[in-house]
Amino acid sequence: MANQHTLQRPVCVEGVGMHTGKRCRVTVKPAEENAGIVFHLAGECIPALAEYVVSTDRCTTLGRDGVRVMTVEHLLSALVGTGIDNAHIEVEGEEIPVLDGSAMPWVERLLDAGLCEQRAPRQRVQLVRPVSVMAGDRGIWAMPHPERLLIATVHYSHPLVGTQVAWFALDKIDYREEIAPARTFGFWEEVESLLARGRALGGSLDNALVIFPDRYSASLRFPDEVLRHKVLDLLGDLALVGVQVEALFVAVKPSHTLNTAFAMALRQTILGEVEQ
Ligand SMILES: [Zn+2]
Repeated sequence: MANQHTLQRPVCVEGVGMHTGKRCRVTVKPAEENAGIVFHLAGECIPALAEYVVSTDRCTTLGRDGVRVMTVEHLLSALVGTGIDNAHIEVEGEEIPVLDGSAMPWVERLLDAGLCEQRAPRQRVQLVRPVSVMAGDRGIWAMPHPERLLIATVHYSHPLVGTQVAWFALDKIDYREEIAPARTFGFWEEVESLLARGRALGGSLDNALVIFPDRYSASLRFPDEVLRHKVLDLLGDLALVGVQVEALFVAVKPSHTLNTAFAMALRQTILGEVEQ
């Protein structure tokens, strides 16, 4: 069984938030065994757990006692993707910087700082019964399975995107190569309505892949980059379960709302089993 890991030294990153358009600074610091991932801002500490989700409108926002931190999913995905279990994340601002819209800048900085193996074993639980969350034509399922496997699919009516399906062996995946580079994307028609709603104020062609009616705004990093970004987001949202869960996961058209509801359902199932 693998042990827990933290960082060898702090990592400081500054940038603009995708949704607020405001500058923010984040310092990811080493943390003790079993600390988990905890955000610190405005005098409040907010554990990266599903019960602290306060909004899922285009991004995942955590909050506690009126203090909020937006767009936590790419940083959380990078942390779990690189095998970091414990970290204190100090945030000056209200949103995690979007950087290039992928998790790659985070992964590079975290790996540059280096990982530090701790003595406690990584918390990993076996699922003993299926868990699912469904909404309309979307759904996420977890079924007991000795390996962590994920089958994911997305469908868009846009002819350039269409239906994309892939599966990933989460215990063996090279997160840095296969998932981290996939960028945030948006359809050109959506951009105007997002701006009208005060969203995506920090969005630009430097931090998001825009899908025009006849082309992408930049060359793709993967043929199925859209699907892989959805997987990146899902892994970040599943970090909110707080432990690794051994299961076969199936995600059909995942969204932050669905992902975080599923993380909560999974968390309640696991906590319920521990108490019994
Ligand atoms: Zn995302």
